[in-house]
Formats: sequence, C-alpha cells, structure tokens
Amino acid sequence: MTDPTAPAYPEGQRRAVPLADLTSWLDSYLKIADFKDWSNNGLQVEGNSAVTRIAASVDTSQRSIEDAVASGANLMLVHHGLFWNKPLMVTGPHRRRLQAALDAGLSIYAAHLPLDAHPEVGNNVMMASALSLQHTAPAFGIGQMGELPYELTLQDFAERVQKLTGEICLVHGGGGGTGVHKLGIVSGSGAGYIEEAARLGLDTLLTGEPEHKHFHDAFELGLNVVYAGHYETEVFGVRALAARIEEQFGLPWQFLHLPTGL
Ligand SMILES: [Zn+2]
Repeated sequence: MTDPTAPAYPEGQRRAVPLADLTSWLDSYLKIADFKDWSNNGLQVEGNSAVTRIAASVDTSQRSIEDAVASGANLMLVHHGLFWNKPLMVTGPHRRRLQAALDAGLSIYAAHLPLDAHPEVGNNVMMASALSLQHTAPAFGIGQMGELPYELTLQDFAERVQKLTGEICLVHGGGGGTGVHKLGIVSGSGAGYIEEAARLGLDTLLTGEPEHKHFHDAFELGLNVVYAGHYETEVFGVRALAARIEEQFGLPWQFLHLPTGL
C-alpha cells in the first residue's frame, strides 16, 4: 500500500523550482501590485532558495509553521500572513514564528485580498462554483454575486453550505421566510456588506464572520445572512492556488487544515 503522507517525488528525483521564479509567477498571477490591502502581500519570509514542496494554510501560526516544516514543505502559502501594515517588534509569538520558519528554511508567501478576489482561484469564485451559482459577477470589491439554479429554502441552503464546509452555519433569517435565489458571497468578514447586498437586490448574503453591530441591519433590510465562518470561507483559495502551482510547476502540496471555529 502506498503511504499517503510520502512525498509524490521521491528523494533524489524531486523537482526543485527556484523560489525567485515561483514568487515572481505568483506576484503576477495574483496581481499582487494591483491591490490596496492592509496585508503586506507577497513573499514575507525568505527561506531556502529552491522549493520542492508546498504547504497551504489559511493562517500563519506557530502550529501551521511547524506542521508545514513537518510535511517537508519549504514554502507555505497563506491567506493571513505575519505582516499587516504596521511595523512589528521581533518579540514574543512573532519572534518564535519567524525563528521557526527561518531555522527550517521555510518561506512564507501571503496573499490576502488578491486571493479573495482572484477570478480563477479566489475564495469567492471557488465558493460560487461549488454552490453552482449562475450568471455570476464580481461584487463587494472582492466577492461574487449570482443566482442559484433554483430557489432553496434558507434552511436547505444553510445545509448545502454546511455540507461544503463541514461546519454548522449561523443563520439570520432577515428575509422573513424568503428563500435563497439571488446570492452574494463575501469570504471572511463580510457583515459590513449587508446594506450593499440589499441595495443590489439580493435576497441572501453568504459570508464568514458576524459582527454584532450589523445584526439589526439584516432584519430591517429584509436580507437573509448565512455566516459560514471566517476560516471556513477562506480554505478554498489557498487550496486552489496550491493546486494551480502543482499544475504549473509540478510541485507536490498539502493543505494544513487548522480550523479556528470562528
Ligand atoms: Zn480573512
């Protein structure tokens, strides 16, 4: 029996791609320079100069770095990186994360908004396609809108989303019994788009994380909101991107599933 954890390319026959080639392909494929983002997107930590195996993770944490190293990866793709606009002292958890990555030669490449919005591997297009959304169009800056092939009750729709993510959704039936047909999707923290979703004539918004201050808006605007989890709505992009890199460069990869429950 084959060991599923064994590298696809045995030692000695492993494909190695220069880190610089990979990062410049990623910068251009993800259009990193086109995004105004509070994440410092791109190569955040420079490890070994050659990449033989990739890990994909939603978050950067001590655990994801250690799991990436244990998987034999020398590049970790993340949605939430280590650097967010402001200068950081190299102390505490930040120091330990950097040290663990650098000691192991692990590079960290972060793609935040570029990976939410991407037309091929973005979190939102991937969710739209998994839900068989039709007539899709970009919306909410990074999201998508479209129509389900046929209307579902809010309960049935929530169950479909739960099947997709494996987690229980939080459902706010602001539509007062209206089913789900015209849907908006915003990965992560999208509760702030409730008003815009109502303005666009949608009946339902699917997003990640709730915010208390937007609770009443959904009910007063007559909009259903399904919160599927910040983490759970952002697993799609890094996985699709790693698969795209495998297609392009033949590098094996592994998704590190480290759910936060949020
Ligand atoms: Zn996020």
